[in-house]
Amino acid sequence: MISSRTGARSAKTSRRLVALALGLGLASAALGTASPASARTAARTAAHPAPAGSTLAASARYAGSAEDAANNKAFFDAVLKSVAEKQAAHPNLKSVTVYYNASQAPSFRSQISSAASIWNSSVSNVKLQATSSGADFAYYEGSDPRGSYASTDGHGSGYIFLDYAQNRQYDSIRVAAHETGHVLGLPDHYSGPCSELMSGGGPGPSCTNRYPDATERARVDQLWAYGLAKALAAVNTGR
Ligand SMILES: [Zn+2]
Repeated sequence: MISSRTGARSAKTSRRLVALALGLGLASAALGTASPASARTAARTAAHPAPAGSTLAASARYAGSAEDAANNKAFFDAVLKSVAEKQAAHPNLKSVTVYYNASQAPSFRSQISSAASIWNSSVSNVKLQATSSGADFAYYEGSDPRGSYASTDGHGSGYIFLDYAQNRQYDSIRVAAHETGHVLGLPDHYSGPCSELMSGGGPGPSCTNRYPDATERARVDQLWAYGLAKALAAVNTGR
């Protein structure tokens, strides 16, 4: 639910780097095959060493002080680009489907599946579906003092990281559904009420709402109606 991966890098620079990576055609990496998890973890640890008393710090951050809007946006852009490339290659596809690979997050298989079902029953312009190869993004699991988050691997591919401790403290399906909300383009809104999915850990561990509210649903449908059209146009013009 939090992400501080880009650290001090400015949002603008981050967006530019992602745009550059996408421009170089690195977006459609095969998430189902190569698993850079260990390398990524090492890089994360090096770039963001856990502060002293990190368990307490993680709880505090989870409540909303370290949201990383730029990283969430980069993640969504990467997913959108990946989906747009498939749409461009198969113009007869009728529905927009975002494929995910959950094989690297075996402990959360049922939560991820529930999160996909929740979103599929909540929005109409985009659907989530599991796959074992050629996914648009992947789920990973592990321990990170910063909790769960959505991010990119620096090469335009998106992934969701699910943190063990956070998923024990908070409703695990809500966590998975929240992170999946980033896949669909929603930013964090930690100050929101429990009825919002993107308020994440803001309302505290007692909040177990697993469904997006009407505003969040409408926003996702809007993003996938207009955002995908734009991404598709960019793919078709070779940008
Ligand atoms: Zn979040």
